[in-house]
Amino acid sequence: MSLFERFENAFMPNYGVPPVALARGEGTRVWDVDGKEYLDFIAGIAVTSLGHAHPAVVEAVSRQVATLAHTSNLFLHEPEVLLAEKLLGLLDAPARVFFANSGTEANEAAYKLAVKYGKREGRSYFVAAENGFHGRTIGALSLTGKKAIRDQFGPFPVEVRFVPYGDADALKEAVTGDCIALFLEPTQGEAGVVPPPDGYLKAAREICDATGALLVCDEIQSAIGRSGHWFAHQADGVTPDLLTLAKGLGGGLPIGACVGFGPAGTLFDKGDHGSTFGGNPVSCAAALAVLDHLDLDHVRQAATRLRTGLEAVAHPLLKGVRGRGLWLAAVLAEPVAPQVQQAAAAAGFLVNAVQPDAIRIAPPLVVTAGEIDALVAAFPGILAEAAQ
Ligand SMILES: *Cc1c(COP(=O)(O)O)cnc(C)c1O
Repeated sequence: MSLFERFENAFMPNYGVPPVALARGEGTRVWDVDGKEYLDFIAGIAVTSLGHAHPAVVEAVSRQVATLAHTSNLFLHEPEVLLAEKLLGLLDAPARVFFANSGTEANEAAYKLAVKYGKREGRSYFVAAENGFHGRTIGALSLTGKKAIRDQFGPFPVEVRFVPYGDADALKEAVTGDCIALFLEPTQGEAGVVPPPDGYLKAAREICDATGALLVCDEIQSAIGRSGHWFAHQADGVTPDLLTLAKGLGGGLPIGACVGFGPAGTLFDKGDHGSTFGGNPVSCAAALAVLDHLDLDHVRQAATRLRTGLEAVAHPLLKGVRGRGLWLAAVLAEPVAPQVQQAAAAAGFLVNAVQPDAIRIAPPLVVTAGEIDALVAAFPGILAEAAQ
Protein backbone atom coordinates (compact mmCIF):
# COMPACT_ATOMS: atom_id res chain seq x y z
CA MET A 1 0.00 0.00 0.00
CA SER A 2 1.24 3.49 -0.80
CA LEU A 3 1.69 6.12 1.91
CA PHE A 4 -1.33 7.89 0.40
CA GLU A 5 -3.58 4.85 0.84
CA ARG A 6 -2.29 4.28 4.36
CA PHE A 7 -2.98 7.96 5.17
CA GLU A 8 -6.50 7.63 3.83
CA ASN A 9 -7.13 4.53 5.95
CA ALA A 10 -5.69 5.91 9.19
CA PHE A 11 -6.75 9.55 9.25
CA MET A 12 -10.05 11.30 9.79
CA PRO A 13 -11.31 12.60 6.46
CA ASN A 14 -11.08 16.32 7.36
CA TYR A 15 -8.04 17.01 5.15
CA GLY A 16 -8.60 14.76 2.19
CA VAL A 17 -5.39 13.08 1.03
CA PRO A 18 -2.60 15.58 0.25
CA PRO A 19 -1.15 15.20 -3.26
CA VAL A 20 2.55 15.10 -2.35
CA ALA A 21 4.34 13.23 0.44
CA LEU A 22 7.44 15.17 1.51
CA ALA A 23 10.52 13.50 2.91
CA ARG A 24 13.10 16.23 3.52
CA GLY A 25 14.06 19.82 2.80
CA GLU A 26 17.01 22.17 2.62
CA GLY A 27 16.57 25.91 2.17
CA THR A 28 13.83 26.44 -0.41
CA ARG A 29 14.24 22.92 -1.81
CA VAL A 30 12.23 19.91 -0.72
CA TRP A 31 12.18 16.31 -1.89
CA ASP A 32 9.23 13.97 -1.90
CA VAL A 33 9.33 10.32 -0.84
CA ASP A 34 10.17 9.28 -4.41
CA GLY A 35 13.14 11.67 -4.54
CA LYS A 36 11.50 14.26 -6.82
CA GLU A 37 12.84 17.74 -6.07
CA TYR A 38 10.64 20.85 -5.74
CA LEU A 39 11.19 24.51 -5.01
CA ASP A 40 8.95 25.27 -2.07
CA PHE A 41 6.98 28.47 -2.70
CA ILE A 42 4.49 27.91 0.11
CA ALA A 43 6.81 27.18 3.08
CA GLY A 44 4.30 25.11 5.03
CA ILE A 45 1.77 27.98 4.80
CA ALA A 46 4.17 30.85 5.47
CA VAL A 47 5.83 28.99 8.33
CA THR A 48 9.39 27.95 7.48
CA SER A 49 10.72 31.51 7.49
CA LEU A 50 14.40 30.54 7.24
CA GLY A 51 13.70 27.68 4.87
CA HIS A 52 14.06 24.01 5.64
CA ALA A 53 16.82 22.75 7.92
CA HIS A 54 18.43 26.17 8.37
CA PRO A 55 21.71 25.50 10.24
CA ALA A 56 20.87 28.08 12.94
CA VAL A 57 17.47 26.48 13.64
CA VAL A 58 18.92 22.97 13.54
CA GLU A 59 21.69 23.98 15.94
CA ALA A 60 19.39 25.86 18.34
CA VAL A 61 16.75 23.12 18.43
CA SER A 62 19.30 20.29 18.74
CA ARG A 63 21.14 22.02 21.53
CA GLN A 64 17.94 22.86 23.40
CA VAL A 65 16.32 19.43 23.06
CA ALA A 66 19.50 17.86 24.38
CA THR A 67 19.60 20.31 27.29
CA LEU A 68 16.02 20.87 28.45
CA ALA A 69 13.03 20.15 26.21
CA HIS A 70 10.14 20.92 28.54
CA THR A 71 9.39 22.56 31.85
CA SER A 72 5.62 23.30 31.79
CA ASN A 73 4.49 26.65 33.12
CA LEU A 74 5.35 25.52 36.65
CA PHE A 75 8.95 26.54 35.97
CA LEU A 76 10.42 29.33 33.91
CA HIS A 77 13.33 28.90 31.54
CA GLU A 78 15.76 31.29 29.90
CA PRO A 79 14.76 30.75 26.23
CA GLU A 80 11.19 31.95 26.86
CA VAL A 81 12.41 35.07 28.63
CA LEU A 82 14.94 35.82 25.89
CA LEU A 83 12.28 35.31 23.22
CA ALA A 84 9.71 37.47 24.99
CA GLU A 85 12.21 40.30 25.42
CA LYS A 86 13.43 40.04 21.84
CA LEU A 87 9.91 39.98 20.41
CA LEU A 88 8.71 42.89 22.51
CA GLY A 89 11.82 44.83 21.47
CA LEU A 90 10.68 44.64 17.84
CA LEU A 91 7.33 46.27 18.62
CA ASP A 92 6.60 50.00 18.69
CA ALA A 93 5.04 50.25 22.15
CA PRO A 94 5.35 48.61 25.59
CA ALA A 95 3.64 45.22 25.72
CA ARG A 96 3.47 41.84 27.44
CA VAL A 97 3.25 38.39 25.91
CA PHE A 98 1.64 34.97 26.43
CA PHE A 99 3.08 31.97 24.57
CA ALA A 100 0.84 29.27 23.11
CA ASN A 101 1.47 26.44 20.62
CA SER A 102 -0.42 27.57 17.55
CA GLY A 103 -2.23 30.39 15.85
CA THR A 104 -5.63 29.25 16.99
CA GLU A 105 -4.42 29.15 20.57
CA ALA A 106 -2.96 32.64 20.27
CA ASN A 107 -6.39 33.84 19.13
CA GLU A 108 -8.12 31.94 21.93
CA ALA A 109 -5.96 33.88 24.39
CA ALA A 110 -6.94 37.16 22.69
CA TYR A 111 -10.58 36.06 22.67
CA LYS A 112 -10.52 35.29 26.39
CA LEU A 113 -8.78 38.58 27.18
CA ALA A 114 -11.43 40.38 25.19
CA VAL A 115 -14.26 38.51 26.91
CA LYS A 116 -12.81 39.56 30.24
CA TYR A 117 -12.59 43.17 29.07
CA GLY A 118 -16.14 43.01 27.72
CA LYS A 119 -17.56 41.71 31.01
CA ARG A 120 -15.72 44.37 32.97
CA GLU A 121 -16.91 47.15 30.65
CA GLY A 122 -20.43 45.81 30.07
CA ARG A 123 -19.94 45.26 26.33
CA SER A 124 -21.65 42.50 24.42
CA TYR A 125 -20.41 41.56 20.93
CA PHE A 126 -17.39 41.18 18.64
CA VAL A 127 -16.84 42.47 15.12
CA ALA A 128 -14.79 40.57 12.55
CA ALA A 129 -14.46 40.53 8.78
CA GLU A 130 -16.22 38.45 6.19
CA ASN A 131 -13.88 35.83 4.71
CA GLY A 132 -11.48 36.35 7.61
CA PHE A 133 -9.74 33.37 9.12
CA HIS A 134 -8.84 33.14 12.79
CA GLY A 135 -8.69 29.41 13.47
CA ARG A 136 -10.70 26.26 14.09
CA THR A 137 -11.38 26.01 17.82
CA ILE A 138 -14.78 27.22 18.95
CA GLY A 139 -13.65 30.68 20.05
CA ALA A 140 -11.39 31.33 17.05
CA LEU A 141 -13.94 29.72 14.72
CA SER A 142 -16.69 31.98 15.98
CA LEU A 143 -14.61 34.93 14.72
CA THR A 144 -13.93 33.29 11.37
CA GLY A 145 -16.04 34.84 8.63
CA LYS A 146 -16.37 31.81 6.37
CA LYS A 147 -19.85 30.34 6.52
CA ALA A 148 -18.79 26.98 5.09
CA ILE A 149 -16.44 26.16 7.95
CA ARG A 150 -18.28 28.03 10.69
CA ASP A 151 -22.04 27.79 10.67
CA GLN A 152 -22.46 24.04 11.28
CA PHE A 153 -20.54 24.35 14.57
CA GLY A 154 -22.58 27.19 16.07
CA PRO A 155 -24.18 28.64 18.05
CA PHE A 156 -21.16 30.32 19.62
CA PRO A 157 -20.80 31.77 23.11
CA VAL A 158 -20.44 35.42 22.06
CA GLU A 159 -22.20 37.24 19.22
CA VAL A 160 -19.93 38.14 16.29
CA ARG A 161 -21.04 40.67 13.66
CA PHE A 162 -19.31 40.39 10.31
CA VAL A 163 -18.44 43.31 8.04
CA PRO A 164 -17.09 43.35 4.47
CA TYR A 165 -13.28 43.45 4.64
CA GLY A 166 -11.66 46.73 3.61
CA ASP A 167 -14.77 48.87 4.08
CA ALA A 168 -14.07 51.54 6.72
CA ASP A 169 -17.65 52.86 6.62
CA ALA A 170 -18.98 49.41 7.48
CA LEU A 171 -16.58 49.31 10.43
CA LYS A 172 -17.82 52.65 11.63
CA GLU A 173 -21.37 51.36 11.55
CA ALA A 174 -20.64 48.03 13.24
CA VAL A 175 -18.18 49.04 15.96
CA THR A 176 -20.14 50.88 18.65
CA GLY A 177 -19.63 51.59 22.34
CA ASP A 178 -21.17 48.16 22.98
CA CYS A 179 -18.53 46.33 20.92
CA ILE A 180 -15.93 44.35 22.88
CA ALA A 181 -13.28 43.98 20.21
CA LEU A 182 -12.62 44.15 16.50
CA PHE A 183 -10.60 41.22 15.10
CA LEU A 184 -8.84 41.92 11.80
CA GLU A 185 -6.05 40.51 9.66
CA PRO A 186 -3.90 43.37 8.26
CA THR A 187 -4.04 41.44 4.98
CA GLN A 188 -6.42 38.50 4.73
CA GLY A 189 -4.39 35.33 4.21
CA GLU A 190 -6.73 32.38 3.75
CA ALA A 191 -9.18 34.59 1.84
CA GLY A 192 -6.51 34.69 -0.89
CA VAL A 193 -3.84 37.18 0.29
CA VAL A 194 -6.16 40.16 0.06
CA PRO A 195 -4.73 43.50 1.25
CA PRO A 196 -7.23 46.17 2.32
CA PRO A 197 -7.29 49.66 0.78
CA ASP A 198 -4.65 52.05 2.16
CA GLY A 199 -5.69 53.61 5.45
CA TYR A 200 -8.04 50.79 6.48
CA LEU A 201 -6.09 49.73 9.57
CA LYS A 202 -5.67 53.35 10.57
CA ALA A 203 -9.42 53.86 10.29
CA ALA A 204 -9.97 50.74 12.39
CA ARG A 205 -7.64 52.14 15.06
CA GLU A 206 -9.49 55.47 15.10
CA ILE A 207 -12.89 53.78 15.35
CA CYS A 208 -11.68 51.60 18.22
CA ASP A 209 -10.18 54.62 19.98
CA ALA A 210 -13.47 56.48 19.63
CA THR A 211 -15.63 53.61 20.91
CA GLY A 212 -13.33 51.84 23.39
CA ALA A 213 -13.43 48.55 21.49
CA LEU A 214 -10.15 46.60 21.51
CA LEU A 215 -8.34 46.37 18.18
CA VAL A 216 -7.01 42.85 17.71
CA CYS A 217 -4.60 42.32 14.81
CA ASP A 218 -4.37 38.69 13.81
CA GLU A 219 -0.86 38.60 12.37
CA ILE A 220 -0.53 34.86 12.58
CA GLN A 221 0.25 34.74 8.86
CA SER A 222 1.43 38.31 8.18
CA ALA A 223 4.09 38.82 10.86
CA ILE A 224 7.77 37.95 11.30
CA GLY A 225 8.99 39.56 8.11
CA ARG A 226 6.48 38.02 5.72
CA SER A 227 5.12 41.41 4.58
CA GLY A 228 8.56 43.06 4.43
CA HIS A 229 8.10 44.44 7.96
CA TRP A 230 8.54 42.60 11.23
CA PHE A 231 4.80 43.06 11.73
CA ALA A 232 2.40 44.08 8.97
CA HIS A 233 0.64 46.66 11.16
CA GLN A 234 3.90 48.62 11.40
CA ALA A 235 3.51 49.61 7.74
CA ASP A 236 0.29 51.42 8.69
CA GLY A 237 1.76 53.27 11.68
CA VAL A 238 -0.87 51.69 13.89
CA THR A 239 -0.51 49.88 17.22
CA PRO A 240 -3.24 47.35 18.06
CA ASP A 241 -4.36 46.50 21.59
CA LEU A 242 -3.81 42.80 21.02
CA LEU A 243 -1.60 41.11 18.47
CA THR A 244 -1.52 37.40 17.68
CA LEU A 245 1.40 35.57 16.12
CA ALA A 246 2.30 32.03 15.18
CA LYS A 247 3.15 30.69 11.73
CA GLY A 248 6.53 32.23 10.83
CA LEU A 249 7.66 32.75 14.42
CA GLY A 250 9.03 29.27 15.12
CA GLY A 251 10.52 28.69 11.67
CA GLY A 252 8.72 25.32 11.56
CA LEU A 253 8.48 24.57 15.27
CA PRO A 254 5.05 25.09 16.85
CA ILE A 255 4.65 28.30 18.81
CA GLY A 256 1.98 30.98 19.06
CA ALA A 257 1.98 34.28 20.89
CA CYS A 258 -0.63 36.72 22.10
CA VAL A 259 0.78 40.19 22.73
CA GLY A 260 -1.11 42.75 24.81
CA PHE A 261 -0.12 46.40 24.47
CA GLY A 262 -0.38 48.78 27.41
CA PRO A 263 -3.40 48.03 29.63
CA ALA A 264 -4.38 45.03 27.46
CA GLY A 265 -1.13 43.40 28.59
CA THR A 266 -2.32 43.14 32.19
CA LEU A 267 -5.96 42.10 31.69
CA PHE A 268 -5.34 38.50 32.75
CA ASP A 269 -5.02 37.87 36.45
CA LYS A 270 -3.06 35.00 37.93
CA GLY A 271 -4.79 31.74 37.02
CA ASP A 272 -6.89 33.16 34.17
CA HIS A 273 -5.11 31.30 31.37
CA GLY A 274 -2.35 28.81 30.74
CA SER A 275 -0.77 26.14 28.56
CA THR A 276 1.35 23.10 29.43
CA PHE A 277 3.38 23.15 26.22
CA GLY A 278 3.07 26.82 25.29
CA GLY A 279 6.43 28.56 24.99
CA ASN A 280 8.33 25.31 25.45
CA PRO A 281 12.13 25.69 25.41
CA VAL A 282 12.65 23.98 22.04
CA SER A 283 10.14 26.14 20.17
CA CYS A 284 11.50 29.25 21.87
CA ALA A 285 15.05 28.33 20.84
CA ALA A 286 13.86 27.93 17.25
CA ALA A 287 12.03 31.28 17.34
CA LEU A 288 15.12 33.02 18.73
CA ALA A 289 17.14 31.63 15.83
CA VAL A 290 14.50 32.94 13.41
CA LEU A 291 14.53 36.45 14.91
CA ASP A 292 18.35 36.48 14.96
CA HIS A 293 18.80 35.40 11.33
CA LEU A 294 15.90 36.96 9.49
CA ASP A 295 17.06 39.63 7.04
CA LEU A 296 14.31 42.17 6.25
CA ASP A 297 16.39 43.82 3.51
CA HIS A 298 16.65 40.49 1.76
CA VAL A 299 12.89 39.94 2.14
CA ARG A 300 12.15 43.29 0.52
CA GLN A 301 14.56 42.80 -2.37
CA ALA A 302 13.31 39.27 -3.00
CA ALA A 303 9.71 40.49 -2.76
CA THR A 304 10.27 43.15 -5.41
CA ARG A 305 11.94 40.63 -7.70
CA LEU A 306 9.13 38.09 -7.27
CA ARG A 307 6.36 40.59 -7.76
CA THR A 308 7.94 42.32 -10.77
CA GLY A 309 8.70 38.94 -12.31
CA LEU A 310 5.18 37.59 -11.90
CA GLU A 311 3.57 40.83 -13.05
CA ALA A 312 5.58 40.62 -16.27
CA VAL A 313 4.20 37.16 -17.05
CA ALA A 314 1.85 37.61 -19.99
CA HIS A 315 -0.79 34.90 -20.09
CA PRO A 316 -4.56 35.32 -20.44
CA LEU A 317 -5.11 33.15 -17.36
CA LEU A 318 -3.14 35.55 -15.12
CA LYS A 319 -5.33 38.49 -14.17
CA GLY A 320 -2.98 40.12 -11.71
CA VAL A 321 -0.79 39.85 -8.65
CA ARG A 322 -1.75 41.10 -5.18
CA GLY A 323 -0.29 40.90 -1.69
CA ARG A 324 2.54 42.25 0.40
CA GLY A 325 6.20 41.28 0.65
CA LEU A 326 6.97 37.61 0.05
CA TRP A 327 3.29 36.86 0.39
CA LEU A 328 1.49 37.13 -2.92
CA ALA A 329 -1.47 35.75 -4.78
CA ALA A 330 -1.49 35.19 -8.50
CA VAL A 331 -5.09 36.01 -9.37
CA LEU A 332 -6.53 33.86 -12.14
CA ALA A 333 -9.10 34.77 -14.75
CA GLU A 334 -10.84 31.42 -14.21
CA PRO A 335 -11.38 29.18 -11.17
CA VAL A 336 -8.60 26.76 -12.10
CA ALA A 337 -6.27 27.22 -9.13
CA PRO A 338 -6.24 23.48 -8.31
CA GLN A 339 -5.09 22.74 -11.86
CA VAL A 340 -2.38 25.44 -11.59
CA GLN A 341 -1.20 23.99 -8.28
CA GLN A 342 -1.02 20.54 -9.86
CA ALA A 343 0.79 21.77 -12.97
CA ALA A 344 3.25 23.67 -10.76
CA ALA A 345 3.99 20.55 -8.71
CA ALA A 346 4.54 18.55 -11.89
CA ALA A 347 7.00 21.25 -12.98
CA GLY A 348 8.77 21.10 -9.59
CA PHE A 349 7.21 24.03 -7.73
CA LEU A 350 5.03 23.88 -4.62
CA VAL A 351 2.40 26.61 -4.56
CA ASN A 352 -1.06 26.70 -2.98
CA ALA A 353 -4.52 26.96 -4.52
CA VAL A 354 -5.73 29.12 -1.63
CA GLN A 355 -8.96 30.07 -3.46
CA PRO A 356 -10.54 28.69 -6.64
CA ASP A 357 -9.11 31.69 -8.54
CA ALA A 358 -5.99 32.49 -6.49
CA ILE A 359 -2.58 30.86 -6.14
CA ARG A 360 -0.81 31.72 -2.91
CA ILE A 361 2.95 32.19 -3.20
CA ALA A 362 4.79 32.45 0.13
CA PRO A 363 8.34 31.10 -0.14
CA PRO A 364 10.81 30.86 2.72
CA LEU A 365 12.10 34.37 3.49
CA VAL A 366 15.58 33.22 2.45
CA VAL A 367 14.48 32.43 -1.12
CA THR A 368 17.25 33.35 -3.56
CA ALA A 369 17.08 35.47 -6.72
CA GLY A 370 17.83 32.36 -8.76
CA GLU A 371 14.95 30.43 -7.18
CA ILE A 372 12.56 33.31 -7.82
CA ASP A 373 13.72 33.55 -11.42
CA ALA A 374 13.15 29.82 -11.84
CA LEU A 375 9.50 30.13 -10.75
CA VAL A 376 8.92 33.20 -12.88
CA ALA A 377 10.45 31.49 -15.93
CA ALA A 378 8.31 28.39 -15.41
CA PHE A 379 5.08 30.26 -14.69
CA PRO A 380 3.84 30.76 -18.28
CA GLY A 381 4.30 27.04 -18.96
CA ILE A 382 2.49 26.13 -15.74
CA LEU A 383 -0.45 28.38 -16.69
CA ALA A 384 -0.52 26.94 -20.20
CA GLU A 385 -0.57 23.40 -18.82
CA ALA A 386 -3.39 24.28 -16.38
CA ALA A 387 -5.44 25.99 -19.10
CA GLN A 388 -5.66 22.79 -21.16
C1 LIG B 1 -3.18 30.01 10.12
C2 LIG B 1 -3.95 31.08 10.73
C3 LIG B 1 -4.62 30.89 11.96
C4 LIG B 1 -4.66 29.56 12.66
O1 LIG B 1 -3.38 29.13 13.05
P1 LIG B 1 -3.14 27.59 13.40
O2 LIG B 1 -1.69 27.55 13.80
O3 LIG B 1 -3.46 26.78 12.20
O4 LIG B 1 -4.01 27.25 14.55
C5 LIG B 1 -5.28 31.98 12.50
N1 LIG B 1 -5.30 33.18 11.88
C6 LIG B 1 -4.66 33.40 10.72
C7 LIG B 1 -4.68 34.75 10.10
C8 LIG B 1 -3.98 32.35 10.09
O5 LIG B 1 -3.38 32.56 8.92
